[in-house]
Amino acid sequence: MRALWLFSFLISLQCFAQTERVKSFTQKLCSPEFHGRGYVNGGDSIAAEFIARTFKELGLKPVNKSYFQSFMFSVHTFPGAMSVTLNNRNLTPGIHFLVDPSCAKGNSTSEFQTLSLSDLYAGQIDFSKISRSKVFLWKNVNYGGDTIKKISQSLYKIAKFAPVVEVVNTKFTWSVSDEAYAFPFIQIQDSVFKDAKEISYSIDAKTMQHQARNVMGFLPAKKKSKQTIVITAHYDHLGRMGQATYFPGANDNASGNAMLLVLAEKFKASPLKKYNILFIAFAGEEAGLLGSHYMVDHPVIPLKSIRFLLNLDIMGSGEEGITVVNSTLFPKEFDRLTALNEQSKFLTQIKKRGPAANSDHYFFTESGVPAIYIYTMGPNKNYHDVFDKYEALSFQAFGPLSDLLEQFFRGME
Ligand SMILES: [Zn+2]
Repeated sequence: MRALWLFSFLISLQCFAQTERVKSFTQKLCSPEFHGRGYVNGGDSIAAEFIARTFKELGLKPVNKSYFQSFMFSVHTFPGAMSVTLNNRNLTPGIHFLVDPSCAKGNSTSEFQTLSLSDLYAGQIDFSKISRSKVFLWKNVNYGGDTIKKISQSLYKIAKFAPVVEVVNTKFTWSVSDEAYAFPFIQIQDSVFKDAKEISYSIDAKTMQHQARNVMGFLPAKKKSKQTIVITAHYDHLGRMGQATYFPGANDNASGNAMLLVLAEKFKASPLKKYNILFIAFAGEEAGLLGSHYMVDHPVIPLKSIRFLLNLDIMGSGEEGITVVNSTLFPKEFDRLTALNEQSKFLTQIKKRGPAANSDHYFFTESGVPAIYIYTMGPNKNYHDVFDKYEALSFQAFGPLSDLLEQFFRGME
């Protein structure tokens, strides 16, 4: 009895230690020193070094003598000034205003100009009616989704001709671009815009060639094997929008890297008999699935040797269970996952979803590698914004999901 008590005490102590390790790892990836794991201040590179060091400490092996796979791409960045002033009030980047990912650099104090709704809606812009020295203003509020989309298309065209301010009343959602318009393009929340007659802005922007690195760690099977299971999670996020503001990317996808870490610990303690496991933290996902696309074009192991690939992106909630992308392509695997869950009640729900090009599994699927992508669901709706912070993560399904995934792969043997 006493031995049993001691045993369960030790187990819960071990779980507690693991939870603390997961949390501090996630928190670190979201901290200012990682600069939102984007391109300003080399944030993604700092993250790559940190993840590779973690893989090494866990006892994962390099692949072809390296933990890294490098590739190049073009990316538009905001490394310096980022200020917008309206009615003598300095607005807060990320909260009051957002620059479009393709916003050009610029520095000006200007009045506004505009066109009629029918001019914008038709999409045929009469550029002779637009002055380059004034800021084109449009309040893109109180329209239906389709109208807003059509107007936005016209605004992108105008940004090649004059600076643009788009006033919005929807949640800000940022992303990454590989090129710039000719002029600045600023989105401002309706609640702070009011009836401003003039705007001052100073925005630094730069398009650059960037070298990024996928990070890999290899765990051999107990018996020598040529077949490998691949578990992936992108570590890059959106980086900085000026020097004062960064996008922490806690749920997207520091949390997925934390799940990689836990699965690596579990399988290192007891490797699979028949399958090697390759853990990959991808770069460049937010810039268009670039790291995983590069890996599919330059595989470090033959794609045919991949028994199954699991991609993890957004692992920080789970109050409403998980969704499995590609489950319609792999019904056998999906049914086994569901059966394991019904047995042990790990998660409240496992939802089916068809194929989607929404994360790093996509190019593997296109190349015939059996793959699924799992994300957690819950009340945390912070996505591609400054509120996707470590503090907002509940980790509600994290432990149970890691147990379910471990059982899922052990069941493949
Ligand atoms: Zn993501």
